[in-house]
Amino acid sequence: MRDPNTVTSENDKPQATAAKPLKQQALSAVKGMNDLLPPASAHWEWLEDKVRGLMTRHAYRNLRTPIVEPTALFVRGLGEVTDIVEKEMYSFEDRLNGELLTLRPEATAGVVRAVVEHNMLYDGGKRLYYMGPMFRHERPQRGRYRQFHQIGAEALGFPGAEVDAELILLAATLWQELGLQDVRLELNSLGQPSERAAHRAALIAHLEQHQDVLDEEAKRRLHSNPLRILDTKNPAMQAVVEAAPKLIDFLGEASLAHFNAVRAILDANAVSYRVNPRLVRGMDYYNLTVFEFVTDRLGSQGTICGGGRYDYLIEQVGGKPAPAVGWALGVERVLELLKEQGALPEPAGPDVYAIVPDALALPLVFATLKTLRSLGMSAQMHAGTGEGMGSMKSQFKKADASGARFALIFGGDELARAEVTLKALRDGQGEQICVPLSDLPHALTQRLAVSSTPLQSV
Ligand code: ATP
Ligand code: MG
Repeated sequence: MRDPNTVTSENDKPQATAAKPLKQQALSAVKGMNDLLPPASAHWEWLEDKVRGLMTRHAYRNLRTPIVEPTALFVRGLGEVTDIVEKEMYSFEDRLNGELLTLRPEATAGVVRAVVEHNMLYDGGKRLYYMGPMFRHERPQRGRYRQFHQIGAEALGFPGAEVDAELILLAATLWQELGLQDVRLELNSLGQPSERAAHRAALIAHLEQHQDVLDEEAKRRLHSNPLRILDTKNPAMQAVVEAAPKLIDFLGEASLAHFNAVRAILDANAVSYRVNPRLVRGMDYYNLTVFEFVTDRLGSQGTICGGGRYDYLIEQVGGKPAPAVGWALGVERVLELLKEQGALPEPAGPDVYAIVPDALALPLVFATLKTLRSLGMSAQMHAGTGEGMGSMKSQFKKADASGARFALIFGGDELARAEVTLKALRDGQGEQICVPLSDLPHALTQRLAVSSTPLQSV
């Protein structure tokens, strides 16, 4: 089968060692695509829970779309001359029917497709959010992966600046609730297509006067997508870019009014920002408000969240024209920044670890743990070796390693009296005591309440 994803470097070639027959070689994950293991996965769940709570409190509802979409959706939606469509998409031909498909590189186009396909705007605007993996064939490095994860919020069908502001404030609140610091907001307006056209003509004229300093990529984009040239990281071009005509000077009254209305709401809510006239974003679909949340603490992968208005995308994807605005954050980058700042909660072990000296006690262990779990406690049962349950010593070792706060010992003598032994595995959590089985839920609830907080926050 033809592979449209050109292999870009030596490292990308599948590694094979001659020693073992192909069938027995250990396989590893695709480069730039990571397994997410415990305990780190607990941080992902913690973040996702925070987001779910916040979205629900803002009346944004969850939407899930397929990971694979028709390639045409992205070519049409994102724009042909964008980094993503030109070189980052995982596109392939379905072997069975020849359909051209792409692993989604972002989710907005798919959300819009779904909204149009299901006529979701028939009774008014919709506020939606999503979480999930995205795929881009980029050079893997810290904060940049080939499978990465985004959480996004989209408000479709609302034309007003107040919804742009609502979304920006929502993101700012999320940083606050996560305990994230050192994030600044950059804001710009891209105006409307006619204003962009006038600016574009002036920009091309300016850049043409400085042909000699333009690099190859800029020359190539001069007539196809000159706005993106402003985004260049090439130091040799900074002066020319700096002196280029600014889009904001081409905005008409209505666009300026929209921009000022967004700013007024941010000001009134004490959200600080910097107007960055060079902020253009990577996709073609934006108009009016665009914004990014950036940090200096993640090197060149410093954008943790980006978004803006995309009033023409719905029509472009085949729907009845309707305005929309949204943002997406990069989960890996947000978590990396939280880690960098020591703001990630400590992963917690279970509340209790059940020590089972004799397999005969198992029926009672199951019943007891079921009760504790139904009360919201987390309980881990000791698992045997295949030749019995293992020595008390080895069971205590496992209990310790689990990070549990209490051991419950289901010893034969105690069980004969309908009791279990409750032993604190950490300092300051009380003496070892025998508790009647009927009192156990109460005794544990009390003790867990006393010594809960930091560990429990995951
Ligand atoms: P960048 O300029 O860093 O390439 P982008 O403009 O391509 O970012 P968007 O398409 O706006 O990014 O995606 C929104 C967010 O998703 C980014 O701000 C970033 O946090 C995250 N993101 C984008 N690409 C990747 C990637 N390859 N790996 C990890 N996170 C990513
Ligand atoms: Mg990118």
